[in-house]
Amino acid sequence: MVLERPGAPLTPVEQPDPRPAIGEVRVRVAACGVCRTDLHVVDGELPNPKLPIVPGHEIVGRIDMVGGGVNALNVGQRVGVPWLGRTCGQCRYCRNGWENLCDRPLFTGYTRDGGYATHAVADARYVFALPEDGDDVATAPLLCAGLIGWRSLQIAGDGEKVGLYGFGAAAHITAQVARWQGRDVFAFTRQGDDAAQAFAKKLGACWAGSSEDAPPEPLDCAIIYAPVGALVPTALRAVRKGGRVVCAGIHMSDIPSFPYDILWQEREIKSVANLTRQDGEEFFKIVPKARIATQTVSYPLVRANEALADLRSGRLQGAAVLVP
Ligand SMILES: [Zn+2]
Ligand SMILES: [Zn+2]
Repeated sequence: MVLERPGAPLTPVEQPDPRPAIGEVRVRVAACGVCRTDLHVVDGELPNPKLPIVPGHEIVGRIDMVGGGVNALNVGQRVGVPWLGRTCGQCRYCRNGWENLCDRPLFTGYTRDGGYATHAVADARYVFALPEDGDDVATAPLLCAGLIGWRSLQIAGDGEKVGLYGFGAAAHITAQVARWQGRDVFAFTRQGDDAAQAFAKKLGACWAGSSEDAPPEPLDCAIIYAPVGALVPTALRAVRKGGRVVCAGIHMSDIPSFPYDILWQEREIKSVANLTRQDGEEFFKIVPKARIATQTVSYPLVRANEALADLRSGRLQGAAVLVP
């Protein structure tokens, strides 16, 4: 499913199966999650995508061809391909443990072709080996919603009371990790979204309400997954002195001006960008320990536009996954 130009629907295109170059593997896609970032690519909210582009960066499948020089992965192996497609390895960020901030990166489904397809080619060094058993559809959302959820939770610090704004794919995984860590989860949804609030409580949230509501007690930290800048001052008002607000999305509407008073007292605002391979190594060890169970809605690959529309409208509970 190909995006020819931003704003246009994806179109089904028949192409020869891509061939892996040196250092690459080809994955036969079993499932590919639909991330909000895909919506930002399709809607033209992210600059300079490769065009035409095959979106999708939550790929689960098995390797069916290996390029030259690849020793760590084998044909038949079950793997996941995430958003971070390649980094330069040389810039100051790559050299200092911040490959997520690389100056010359490639991103799967944005600046290189991704997983809304039967086959995808990936740089072998950025592919995660996955356990041989496991449900492909249930695993797909872990590749971005899970990983970014994990990174954002780390960056939020070790506070006990965690607020999650926007209870979609990422929050429903983050909530499970935070509960497993023994923290209290406060879930904020759109006003009147009773289904999402019930879903959050089912996953162990101690409180769920509208994002306009104040939490019953001050939060230690808050993570904003919804692409809504107005939530930044809202979340600042919800955290205690010294509390931290983490913006976890790649794109957000403008943040309205707010009184200094709500940032004062050493409150912090921080964004989360991309992921590192180390995030993946840590997170995939935690998945079985925390018994993370994703809630998914699967669509045949050719109905990718419908999946994107459902995500855009907020109709989804959990994560959308495409199956070729
Ligand atoms: Zn770099
Ligand atoms: Zn994503």
